[in-house]
Amino acid sequence: MFADVIVDINNVEVDKVFEYSFSDCKITLGSHVIVPFGKKVESGIVINVKDKSNFDEDKIKPIYRLLEEKPALTKETLELMNFICKTCYVTRAAALRLFLPSEMRKGKVKEQFIRYLQLADGVDVDSVIESLRKTAIKQKELLIHLKSGEKFLHNELAEKYGPSAVNAVVEKGYVNIIKEQFFRLPYKELDASNKNVVLTPKQIEAVNSIKNTDKMTSLIFGVTGSGKTEVYLNLISDVISKGKSAIMLVPEIALTPQMLKALRARFSNHAAILHSGLSAGERFDEWWRLRNGQAQIAIGARSAIFAPLENIGLIIIDEEHDGSYLSESAPRYNTIDVAKFRAKMNGAKLVLGSATPSIESFKNASEGEYNLIRLPERINKKELPFVEVVDMRKEVMRGNNSPFSSALKSQLTKCLENNNQAIIFLNQRGYSKTVICTECGHVQKCTDCDVSLTYHKEDESLLCHYCGAKYKMISACTECGSPFIRHGGYGTERIVSELQKLYPNARILRMDKDTTQNKEGHFNILNKFTERKADILVGTQMIAKGHDFPFVTLVGILDADMSLHFSDFRSSERTFQLLTQVAGRSGRAEEKGSVVLQTYSPENLTLRQAIKYDYLGFYNQEISIRKATGFPPFTDIVRVLVSGIDEETTLLTTKAIYQEISDIYEQNKDKFRFFGCMKAPLKRLQNRFRYQILMRINTNDKKLLDQIFFASDKYKSRNLLVSMEINSNNLT
Ligand code: ADP
Ligand code: ZN
Ligand code: ZN
Repeated sequence: MFADVIVDINNVEVDKVFEYSFSDCKITLGSHVIVPFGKKVESGIVINVKDKSNFDEDKIKPIYRLLEEKPALTKETLELMNFICKTCYVTRAAALRLFLPSEMRKGKVKEQFIRYLQLADGVDVDSVIESLRKTAIKQKELLIHLKSGEKFLHNELAEKYGPSAVNAVVEKGYVNIIKEQFFRLPYKELDASNKNVVLTPKQIEAVNSIKNTDKMTSLIFGVTGSGKTEVYLNLISDVISKGKSAIMLVPEIALTPQMLKALRARFSNHAAILHSGLSAGERFDEWWRLRNGQAQIAIGARSAIFAPLENIGLIIIDEEHDGSYLSESAPRYNTIDVAKFRAKMNGAKLVLGSATPSIESFKNASEGEYNLIRLPERINKKELPFVEVVDMRKEVMRGNNSPFSSALKSQLTKCLENNNQAIIFLNQRGYSKTVICTECGHVQKCTDCDVSLTYHKEDESLLCHYCGAKYKMISACTECGSPFIRHGGYGTERIVSELQKLYPNARILRMDKDTTQNKEGHFNILNKFTERKADILVGTQMIAKGHDFPFVTLVGILDADMSLHFSDFRSSERTFQLLTQVAGRSGRAEEKGSVVLQTYSPENLTLRQAIKYDYLGFYNQEISIRKATGFPPFTDIVRVLVSGIDEETTLLTTKAIYQEISDIYEQNKDKFRFFGCMKAPLKRLQNRFRYQILMRINTNDKKLLDQIFFASDKYKSRNLLVSMEINSNNLT
């Protein structure tokens, strides 16, 4: 027999399938196999099995071996792989990686087994002992140990009675070795006690509406604290009882433990978690528990949409508006599109939930394409917290140069005095955003990028937040040698130290990318805060999403304008979402909550709408702006990005591609809204110059997209990267 195999090799420029022969009848469509490749050994996936080869059959190399007996991919996931290739313009080898946890590739991680010893059936210990030599004391003791017929850990008995005694009784057939797969279970210590919740009429209505609608997709537009999670859990329960499976996505790894806890409470070990923060063994086992059907519910961030489940009945995307659902590196997939594909293939329901739906989703819902469900009230009927807006320009004029307004300080003092908790939000990690020489004004920059460096005090380093390069903190200006260095702007590290000065007794936690590097970093910080082992939580957008902290009565937003300054079309949308989400962390339980929002542009319309939680007002305004200016969802934004080490070649190539696309443009003028060629906003990144061709074209014009892709892609070379992004979240 012969198999077409996609070989999992790095540097997959050409989309090639390789042919191998095999005789192992267990090898089939989707099998994960080890094959010879050139002089190396690689792993791959069988995508086709056939009797005859297209080549000289004698020259075809055989598959070395099958890695796991059960095929890693199914017919459906193989089709999804093709869908990813076509819509994200990547090779199959690149798409394949979405489906296999990296630990599985090349068979690096294996199943773990535990061995037990158990008395063989029908063995009469007393008479066996009689028959043994007098000196075989250990064997006799071991047999007595096993007399009850229960199984005992092999390792422990081998240690107690010696391996030779164990081997002897096994060889003689008195005792059997039993091998059981041992699943490495992440978050074992999670307290999964079940809260018995009776759904509110509104929640019941939502559940029923989703169950009964003919529409594939439902959008739950429910304010923060409206009880969306309970609705999800009920829907999951329903599909599980019908013998189907479910995928539950949250926007951030930090949110997975909380959701896993809720799922375990209800479905015990039928839920499996998939994310990159797990240990290799845990990830491998959780993946296989899903693949084998031992777990039917997959929970995770974006990439869990590729969970190896069959017979999916439900896919839930919580906080569906979140930017993390768009992958920013190839394959650049949109999670909602992938979810739609899988829902369609499986005949499943797709549920999107958000307090601030994306403009696109809300448009689909209001035009009737999605089933729209509203949960306008918090469960406890508590009003959304009042937002006090502080004009920071006035604070500065009054001589307050601290990052905290007097209003925030007095509220914070009150909050701490009452033994409540506070959250301080600032979307900037590190100590100071920039390091500036007070003599010559020189700003420290990354040598490889056109970006200023952020000072991280913890390890006395200067970090490039774009390429990750790390430099030692300077003691003098690198330009003029002056020792007078100023810190520009505040990051979370600096905010913590300022707060500690103001409130020496307060227990402060910080949650950002730097404090959550290790596996359970998020989990530990959130747990500590939830258990009231800290008074203030300082954090970046990581703390904005979804968390339920019942004792938080104050949220301080230090710089509400930060995301307004980004020059992309989604900046208003993102600001509105972020502010609403952060504010929603306050006052979720008994005590009334409040929010202090500091800004330098208090008259900004988006801010005004956010503080009133006026989503509809915001939506109506934003959608009309998008329509008038021709931005998504009315067009697709396509960027062809060319980057190279040599600026001249990069520029010339960009021009050549521009010329080719110009020809396409001439033929399709009615389909273009905009077409231009320029330097990328971030002109240099990782030592590469960056130029871009930007277009806005009619939505979903696959043919046109293909033309643009093929016109640009052929210019890609070893030294030149050419990529095409569609509606990317990040056009830096
Ligand atoms: P959302 O996801 O909409 O922000 P959550 O699902 O986190 O809201 O619910 C907010 C709080 O209300 C949680 O503490 C949750 O346990 C509680 N809750 C949800 N539904 C009910 C209910 N039917 N009865 C009592 N408490 C509920
Ligand atoms: Zn200087
Ligand atoms: Zn850099």
